[in-house]
Amino acid sequence: TSGTIIVGAGHAGVQAAASLREEGYDGPVVLIGEEQELPYHKPPLSKTFIKDAAAKPQPLRGESFYEGNSIDYRPGLHVERIDLAGRRLELAGGASLAFDRLILATGSRPRSLPVEGAGLPGVVSLREVADARLIRELSASCTDVVVLGGGFIGLEIAATLRAAGRNVTVVEAADRLLGRVVAAPIGEYVRQRLADLGVRILTGTTVSRLEGEKGHVSAAVTAAGERLPAQLVIVGVGVVPNVELAGQAGIAISNGIRVDHQMRTSVPEVLSVGDVASYRHWFTGGDVRLESVQNATDQARLAARTITGGTDAYGAVPWFWSDIGDMKLQMVGLTAGADSHLTVGMPQDNRFSVYHFAGDRLVAVESVNRPADHMLGRKMLAAGFSPSREAVAEGADALKAALA
Ligand code: FAD
Repeated sequence: TSGTIIVGAGHAGVQAAASLREEGYDGPVVLIGEEQELPYHKPPLSKTFIKDAAAKPQPLRGESFYEGNSIDYRPGLHVERIDLAGRRLELAGGASLAFDRLILATGSRPRSLPVEGAGLPGVVSLREVADARLIRELSASCTDVVVLGGGFIGLEIAATLRAAGRNVTVVEAADRLLGRVVAAPIGEYVRQRLADLGVRILTGTTVSRLEGEKGHVSAAVTAAGERLPAQLVIVGVGVVPNVELAGQAGIAISNGIRVDHQMRTSVPEVLSVGDVASYRHWFTGGDVRLESVQNATDQARLAARTITGGTDAYGAVPWFWSDIGDMKLQMVGLTAGADSHLTVGMPQDNRFSVYHFAGDRLVAVESVNRPADHMLGRKMLAAGFSPSREAVAEGADALKAALA
């Protein structure tokens, strides 16, 4: 047999390979990625990595994992085309590989900025370790940084570079920060705290062009005409899913590679997981494409079970974290459809949680430096348990008792 090929050696692809073996799959497993190094953790790239000049990428698994589990990892390879009828992958350079099952874990790439000057040296978006190295190098020798986009990655970098003494301005088109990913009270809190640290935050405006001097970026000019000096511009305006391979093969696409509750695409022997996969979420009933380590790894585990004959449907509780300066944000659940919330703890102590309800149903818990609330939130949502508002207000002990 020709086995299973996994395209993409990020969080999803590596977990899929590991889970296939854990589930007892004994056919060949080939794992293909474009990167040269061992597959590594992405979250530290916008957190510890840019702070510490000596930091190295942290491998997801050591080298012995691939050997020991007979996982044929092929770094530095670009897959050009899927030949569905022939069940082959065509690789850059002309070689091809046969498969029985294919897992597409091609992830996403930074959205590019359609403005004049976006191609200037010193304008960087962050996805890979090379990007993080470049940000580390450029930021070491600059005074002014402009961050385009008030999402997690942009704000993590903004807080870090501000703490390192740079002048940092964040420009966000929407009228609030973190609009896609957290509810308004948390977004507002993060804005205030970053402002207190000295990060300048402009919302409701965009950058209309970037200017250069001596072949390097020197300023960002806002739509309102303000000229913001910048020797480093970080573009953090979201990502686009890498759907092209699947799309060209005729696999159904809808915001991402469309998958069912067992991670199968419109072609049953092809599965898809991670940032690139879009699906009907069991929790909200809406269509989503989630960009998180949890989503990538839990979907990968399920895809491996599907391939080894499992029939369970995706039902993992979504969770996410972000470290923005001294704020450890942890989110569990999805706030879509929430109509009320309850705050516990003290924002003035930089420690609080927001519990979101849709009617009486608990749908999400968002925490700042309250990891115990987050863990409890995960347990409650996994159990389908909604506490009363009184129990939430009473605190963790009351919640634990109610859950038991
Ligand atoms: P990726 O990790 O993007 O992997 C995609 C893989 O596909 C790569 O190996 C690529 O080489 C390969 N590939 C694509 N096309 C081809 C092709 N044609 N041929 C061969 N190979 C191909 N999530 C959190 O939950 N918490 C965080 O704090 C957090 N912080 C983050 C910080 C940064 C800087 C970044 C970039 C992401 C962060 N994320 C975080 C998001 C998280 O890293 C992603 O959700 C996760 O990496 C998705 O995994 P994936 O395997 O789907 O995609």
